[in-house]
Amino acid sequence: MNMSKTTDNIEIRTVSRIIKGMPATDGAGVELTRVIGQPALNTLDPFLLLDAFRSDKPEDYLAGFPSHPHRGFETVTYLLEGRMRHKDNAGHEGVIEPGGIQWMTAGKGIVHSEMPEQENGMLEGFQLWVNLPAENKMDAPSYQEYAAEHIPVEAREGGIEVRVISGQTSQGTTGPVVQPLTDPLYLDVRVPAGQTFVEPLPTSHNAFIYIIHGPVEVMGESKQVLQLVRDDLGVLADGDAVRLSTGEHDAQFLLVSGKPLRQPIARGGPFVMNTQDEIKQAFDDYRHGRF
Ligand code: FE
Repeated sequence: MNMSKTTDNIEIRTVSRIIKGMPATDGAGVELTRVIGQPALNTLDPFLLLDAFRSDKPEDYLAGFPSHPHRGFETVTYLLEGRMRHKDNAGHEGVIEPGGIQWMTAGKGIVHSEMPEQENGMLEGFQLWVNLPAENKMDAPSYQEYAAEHIPVEAREGGIEVRVISGQTSQGTTGPVVQPLTDPLYLDVRVPAGQTFVEPLPTSHNAFIYIIHGPVEVMGESKQVLQLVRDDLGVLADGDAVRLSTGEHDAQFLLVSGKPLRQPIARGGPFVMNTQDEIKQAFDDYRHGRF
């Protein structure tokens, strides 16, 4: 069945599904695209949600995400353009700038706001939710925050650039964010026209690509060539490595993988636990100011 086995015995991960994001409104009225965490792709263990936002219309983003809680997982915000101010109930505050990452481990609970630090212009970025194992859901909250200048850019042949936010590439570049519980790889990859990008991924990890601009060509499950365009998410099938090619146009995409937790998931709005009782407890704790 290894239709994509090559002579050197590397099995290329095909794209098993192409997911189109769903328009959604969240926070106090922010218009975004929900890519993971919607009917077409409820989860991609350990990833619980992926929101993409891109707008230069202030009415789409100005309302922001005022004070709200989280428990049981991590929120990962990566900005391409624009600025977001975050502030939590433990006195942690800052601004995420273009190219910057905020990897927030909500753990047992945090109450925070995420508000645009701008009144006009483009706001573009992503929020990914990464699950925590049952035994770590009630850990103390923590942050890993890095501005663009602290995210290494790996330069490859053919003008390919890889921004390494988390994990290590096959060429040895290591990103600043560390999370041994799910061992995530989070790359922002820019590939000029007419090039091919290949990268090994841990075989047992779930993985996806999200096209920021394209198109890119990848192999489908029956060995046909698929074209993924802007805002397509490609779920990668089992295998050892991903391979993507560009045609006439430059492309940019996120490449993300992580170790699946294979545990029951109970969702309740901003809380993700293992059982409904734990969700009830989270709402109760929040209502009674125990965050
Ligand atoms: Fe939040």
